[in-house]
Amino acid sequence: MLKRRWKIFAIVALVIAAIAAMVGGVLLLNRPQQPTVLQPFLPPSVGNVHLTMGIPSQADRTNANDYLIDDDKRPYALSYNDSKRIPNWVSWQLNKSWLGTAPRTNDFREDPTLPKGWYRVKSTDYNGSGYDRGHMAPSADRARDTATNSATFLMTNIVPQTADNNRDVWESLESESRRLVNLGQELYIVAGGAGEKGSIGSAKISVPASTWKVIVVMAKPGATAADVTSRTRVIAVDVPNIQGIKDKTWRDFRVSVDQLEAKTGYDFLSRVTGSVQQAIERRVDKG
Ligand code: MN
Ligand code: MN
Repeated sequence: MLKRRWKIFAIVALVIAAIAAMVGGVLLLNRPQQPTVLQPFLPPSVGNVHLTMGIPSQADRTNANDYLIDDDKRPYALSYNDSKRIPNWVSWQLNKSWLGTAPRTNDFREDPTLPKGWYRVKSTDYNGSGYDRGHMAPSADRARDTATNSATFLMTNIVPQTADNNRDVWESLESESRRLVNLGQELYIVAGGAGEKGSIGSAKISVPASTWKVIVVMAKPGATAADVTSRTRVIAVDVPNIQGIKDKTWRDFRVSVDQLEAKTGYDFLSRVTGSVQQAIERRVDKG
């Protein structure tokens, strides 16, 4: 009798153990895939000089499609879009201290600071696409020294631009910016792409339908958002990312900041007092 009870007990225990092992195995196999581990949320550094006028989006370090890169080593700040594989926006301060005679390094390369497991766009991904590797923060705006210049060639600062956009219209505003800086002024610049007109390569890098830029023109270096007044000059442009605009200049594509805010959903100059934003964001530059 006792023997039989032990036998039954042993069988029941074995069956329970087997079921537990099976259930455990199934649970283990069906465990949801761990999402790519992002850094825990850190409030964007208020001290980053390139974000003096504010952060246009809700960028932080938890959103792969609005991923904030604002480390101290980088001579600009940006929001990266992992799905589009281009920046949403790039923001930088420009004054004489950033200019100089360092040669263009031309070392377009993957950004090693992107989280592990993310696709890192390579320079060769643009090969044969018909589009330029278009800098948002321009190489010539960062000529203080070789390392600073080289940082502009990270592919997270690059979007596909047509030759006419990049080399003519867009370049004309980049040159005008450096002309103002050489007069002693300080600029706070944000640039990015809007819309989508397809993608390039097997990496499916998004091609923006237009490239936009907002420039706050301050009289002298060391400005803060509190120094912006209703009389501050703001230049905003929205340039179609097409061919056939070679003979135009940036002046032909001026818009108001309000128009760009409506188009992109961003809030530019968010650290500037509301009433001042209202006054300067509705105007179209006439200078
Ligand atoms: Mn360019
Ligand atoms: Mn605004």
